Amino acid sequence: MANLLVDERDVKFTLFEQLKVQDLCQHARYAGWNEKVFGMLLSEARKFAEKELFPLNIEGDKEGARFDQGAVYSVPGTAAAYRKFVDNGWLTASEEEAHGGQGLPQVIKSAAHEMFFAANFPFMCYANLTHDAAKLIELFGTEEQKHLYIEKMYLGDWTGTMALTEPEAGSDVGNIGLKATRNVDGTYGLVGQKIFITNGDHDFADNIVHLVLARIEGDPPGTKGLSIFIAPKVRVNADRTLGAANDVRCIGLEHKMGIKGSPTATMSFGEKGECVGYLLGQERDGIKIMFHMMNASRLAVGMWGQGICSVSYQHALKYALERKQGQSIENPDPATQVAIIEHPEIRRTLMLMKAHIEGMRGMLYFCGYAMDQVAIAGSDEDKRKWQSLVDLLIPICKAYPTEKGVEFASHAIQIYGGYGYTKDYPVEQFLRDSKVACIFEGTTGIQAIDFALRKVRMQKGEVFACFLRDMDRMVEQAAALPGWEKYTAQMQRTKTALGELPAHLALGAAEKGAHYPFLKATPFLDAFGDVVVAWFLIWSAVVAEEKLEALFQKKKLEDQESRLAFVRTNADAAFLDGKIQSARFFIANILPITDGKIAALQWGDVSALVAAEKSF
Ligand SMILES: Cc1cc2nc3c(=O)[nH]c(=O)nc-3n(C[C@H](O)[C@H](O)[C@H](O)COP(=O)(O)OP(=O)(O)OC[C@H]3O[C@@H](n4cnc5c(N)ncnc54)[C@H](O)[C@@H]3O)c2cc1C
Repeated sequence: MANLLVDERDVKFTLFEQLKVQDLCQHARYAGWNEKVFGMLLSEARKFAEKELFPLNIEGDKEGARFDQGAVYSVPGTAAAYRKFVDNGWLTASEEEAHGGQGLPQVIKSAAHEMFFAANFPFMCYANLTHDAAKLIELFGTEEQKHLYIEKMYLGDWTGTMALTEPEAGSDVGNIGLKATRNVDGTYGLVGQKIFITNGDHDFADNIVHLVLARIEGDPPGTKGLSIFIAPKVRVNADRTLGAANDVRCIGLEHKMGIKGSPTATMSFGEKGECVGYLLGQERDGIKIMFHMMNASRLAVGMWGQGICSVSYQHALKYALERKQGQSIENPDPATQVAIIEHPEIRRTLMLMKAHIEGMRGMLYFCGYAMDQVAIAGSDEDKRKWQSLVDLLIPICKAYPTEKGVEFASHAIQIYGGYGYTKDYPVEQFLRDSKVACIFEGTTGIQAIDFALRKVRMQKGEVFACFLRDMDRMVEQAAALPGWEKYTAQMQRTKTALGELPAHLALGAAEKGAHYPFLKATPFLDAFGDVVVAWFLIWSAVVAEEKLEALFQKKKLEDQESRLAFVRTNADAAFLDGKIQSARFFIANILPITDGKIAALQWGDVSALVAAEKSF
C-alpha cells in the first residue's frame, strides 16, 4: 500500500512527465539540479512527512496548543520536529545559497509542501510564517534589520508572525486601527490589539518576530495609511543577543474547531506603553510590502487545501479496499462479503476525488512553475507574461482546492461510514481542520472578487482570454486520439461558454448595477476552476495515452483484451490508464454541471440583491 498522504507516483508524473520541470535545470539559476536529485529530495520529504509530521498532527489534535497563566505551550514534539525540518533544509528550500538556502525551484518546494501540508498543517504554519516574515525583512529591511533578524529566523532559532487582523478589521484590512507613534530615536511606539494571530506566542523559540500592520498617528484612513513594523517579542541587541522584553503579550488563545495544534492568539501590543516597533520599508508602504508575499502565501494555503484532499482520499481509498460489506452485484453470494470499493457509488466518489486531486495538482504545480519562470525570464516581456499568468491563477489556486478540501474530507467520512464519524480514525479531524483554509489569507468570497473584478480585467481582459486560447493546443492533441472526440467537444463547449462571462458581467453591471458582478463572482470563480482543472487533466491524459501506447507496443499487445488484462496486472500501466480515466470522468461528470453553473449565472437573476433585508 502506498503512503497515506499523497500519491508519490502522481507527484512525479505531474512534475517530470507532464510539466517537465526538469527543463528548468537548463537555466543557470538551477543548473546544479537534475530530475534524479529532485526525485530523491521529494522521497525524503515524503518520509519525513509520514514518519514525523503526520503522527505529530494526530497527537496535536488531541492535546492542542495550550494557554496557561499567560504562557502558550506548543504541542509536545513540535520543537524537535521543527529543528529537524530546518536542519534538513526545508525552511529555506527555495532561498538562494547566500541566505543559507538550497536554491530549489518554487515548483519543487510546492510539491514537497503538498506532502508536508497533507501531513501537518498546524506545524507548517510555524515554518511558513517564519519564512514569509524573514523574506519580507530580506526584501524591504535596512542592512541593520537584515543583520538582526534574518539569519536567526532562517536558522530556526526565532519564529515569525503576520499580524494584520483586528476585531474591526478582518477582510476589511483598511480598517486597521493599531496605533503607531513616532519616537525621537526613529523607532515607533505601538499600542493596540491584534486577534487571530497564528503562533502569536509559543514556547519553543527564543524570540518571536511579529510583522505588524499599524497606522501612524495622523496618517489617512484606508489601506493607503498603513505602515508595517517589526515588533519582536524580545528586543534584539546590536550583536543579536536578546535584550529586554518588548511589551508584547498573548492574552489568550482561540478555542477552534480544528488545527488545534496551531495556537491562534490574541496579542496585546504596548499595554505599558513600551512596545517598540521598527519601521519596515517606508511609512505608508505597509500594504504594498505585505502584498509582496501574498501570492506565495495564497498558493501555500491552496496547497494545503490540496493536501487535505489528498490525505482524505488516500485514507478513504485504503479503507475502501479493506472494509468488507455487502455482496457482489454480478455474482451475489450471501456467504461472501466484498470490499466496499466494489460498490459503484464508492467507486464514483473515489473517482470524483482522484480526478479533482490530479487536476488541481497540475494547476498548483504549474503556478509554482510559472513563478520560477518569472524568476528566470530573459526579457521584461517574458517576465510580464508569466507574472500575469501567476496573478490570474492565484485566486483560483487559493479558493478552489480549499473548498474541495472541505467537500472531500466529508466524502472520506462518508466512505468510512459510521467509523468515519468517530475519533477512531483521523478523517473527522481532516474535516474539522479543513474549513479554515477557506477563510484565512482572504476568504473564498474575497478571492472571487479579486478574480472576477480585477484579475479577469487585467490588460483589458487579454490575459484571461489568452489563457483560455492557450488551452486549445492540448485539447486539439487530445481530439486526435481515438475515442476522445466527444470529450474534447464537451471541453470546447464549456470553455467557450466560460469565455463569454466577462462580457456578460460587464453588461450586467451596466444594466443592473455595480453589485451585479460581485453577486456572480463566486460562481464565476468556481466555473473557471472546473475548466482549469479539466485542462490539466486533458494535458495529463495526452501524456499518459502516449506512454501507455508505448508500453503496449513494447509488450507487443495489439488486441483490446490482452491490453486490458495487462492494465489489471501491471502497476505502471494501471497508473497511466488511471490518468486517462480521471480525465474522462471529470469531463463527462463535471463539465456538464459546469455548463449548468454558467447557465445559472447567465440567467441574470438578482433576487438576492432585490430582497429587502427584512425579507431574509
Ligand atoms: C485559525 C485562524 C488563523 C488566523 N491567522 C491569522 C494570522 O496569522 N494573522 C492575521 O492577521 N490574521 C489571521 N487570521 C484572520 C483571518 O485572516 C480572518 O479571519 C479573515 O481575513 C476574515 O476576516 P474576519 O474573520 O473578520 O471575517 P469578515 O471579514 O467579517 O468576513 C465575514 C464574511 O463576510 C465576507 N465579506 C467580508 N467583507 C466582504 C466584502 N467586502 N465583499 C464580500 N464579502 C465580504 C467574508 O468573505 C466572510 O464570508 C486567522 C484566522 C483564523 C480563523
